[in-house]
Amino acid sequence: MKLSPIDIFEDGPIVVSGPCSAETEEQVLSTSELLAKTGKVDVIRAGIWKPRTRPGSFEGVGTVGLEWMQKVRKKTGLPIAIEVANFNHVFNALKYQVDILWIGARTTVNPFAVQEIADALKGVDATVFVKNPINPDLELWVGAFERLNTAGITKLAAVHRGFASYGKSKFRNEPQWQIPIELKRRFPELPIICDPSHICGNRECLQQISQRALDLDFDGLMIESHIDPDEAWSDKNQQITPSRLVELINDLVFRHPDPEDPDVTHNIESLRNEINSIDDELLQMLSNRMKVAEKIGAFKKKNGITILQTDRWNDIIEKTLAVGKTLGLSEIFLERFLKSVHQESINHQNDVMNRETSK
Ligand code: PEP
Ligand code: MN
Repeated sequence: MKLSPIDIFEDGPIVVSGPCSAETEEQVLSTSELLAKTGKVDVIRAGIWKPRTRPGSFEGVGTVGLEWMQKVRKKTGLPIAIEVANFNHVFNALKYQVDILWIGARTTVNPFAVQEIADALKGVDATVFVKNPINPDLELWVGAFERLNTAGITKLAAVHRGFASYGKSKFRNEPQWQIPIELKRRFPELPIICDPSHICGNRECLQQISQRALDLDFDGLMIESHIDPDEAWSDKNQQITPSRLVELINDLVFRHPDPEDPDVTHNIESLRNEINSIDDELLQMLSNRMKVAEKIGAFKKKNGITILQTDRWNDIIEKTLAVGKTLGLSEIFLERFLKSVHQESINHQNDVMNRETSK
């Protein structure tokens, strides 16, 4: 992907804030003016067309909201961002000189819609933020960037807003941090901001998720705010007042290494070397384990024993979980780790059996 820098990211992590939805001119302007006064907000957001999961909820004020956003821009001097989901939205957003367009989670899932937006933006020097798709599919997210990039859009950024899951969860959308981490690994030049509002679905966990994102070296936050959150027409449980937003930001720890301090680089180097040699040992041990598994495979083959022995497998899980717990390893990690090691072990045994069978 050919990316170019976006000005607002020049000075470290940004804050995008504003209401979930533009409701009235008064609500948008008063919220935005308070946000601008805090001096902590870099971009004002508001949804003009709202993709709602179920019909019957508030679906946005439509084009009239663009006039309000234009006033916001004039009064606050801050860039404005809105969500676009089709050609018509893009056409109107450009007509009203919206600075940043974002593609919502329900649109990123749909390659037809993303392509329509990309085509509408051909030849335009636009800045586009792409939220992750609703489902935890990194390729779909990447695909959206590629469609925009192929249309010539190079000012791109990602918004991590979490992923839907079925059943009970403490999150509205599960963060699944490994997905944005992998996106960062694959596209180090692509800025990525976190949207704790749609991850949490409530006000209580915003702080924790925001801090987590900063600690993962994210390039900013998108947090919904409203002059009177309890009366918001959409997503009222997760919106906060501009003054609460300031408290939240003030309580965040922005971690900056001291570039003057040689100790900082030296110490991290030696800790990293320690990790590297432990990783080497782990790999060696895993390889040894698989060699033993192959011997077991040959033995089982010779004695007519099946590869999977459920009792033995249950035994391993039980014992390892118990010991792992005392070593400070989480159950969820140990389970994933064990299952993966076990599967690899089965594959090695399988290879041995097949090889011997085909002889
Ligand atoms: C929003 O930002 O208000 C929104 C609709 O978000 P998402 O696309 O992440 O659900
Ligand atoms: Mn919202």
